[in-house]
Amino acid sequence: MSDSCAFCRITDGTDEASVVLDEEHVLAVMDLRQFHPGHVLLMPRRRIPDVRTLPSELAGPLMRAASRVTTAVSDAFPNEGISLWHSIGSAAFQEVPHLHIHVHPRRAGDGLLAVYPDHPPSTDRASLDEMAARIRSALP
Ligand SMILES: [Zn+2]
Repeated sequence: MSDSCAFCRITDGTDEASVVLDEEHVLAVMDLRQFHPGHVLLMPRRRIPDVRTLPSELAGPLMRAASRVTTAVSDAFPNEGISLWHSIGSAAFQEVPHLHIHVHPRRAGDGLLAVYPDHPPSTDRASLDEMAARIRSALP
């Protein structure tokens, strides 16, 4: 049965993929884009839009799989580091609305994922404390 979600078509076996890890709740496959060899996509089998709606019973299996896959990528492909990333929404360039974590080998100076366009100034403690309190009060 085909589905409009590209990742559901992979998790249900409709579309082919090169499988790295196949578990009850989690699937990891090779990304089609191999800027550095070893780029893996890790996702829950169920369609969950992003980590904000991840059921707690899937959080453990997903993070355990992330740890195992990252260890394997690190050992199996040349790298000078690894980036894990998960994007939410268009401003963060989320391309598929089905939670996925990229596991990507890094090389020094490769120019990927430059986090800040300019180095931001440090924020004072009072402001940081205020922001932390705001987020604490919003924790689900
Ligand atoms: Zn999906």
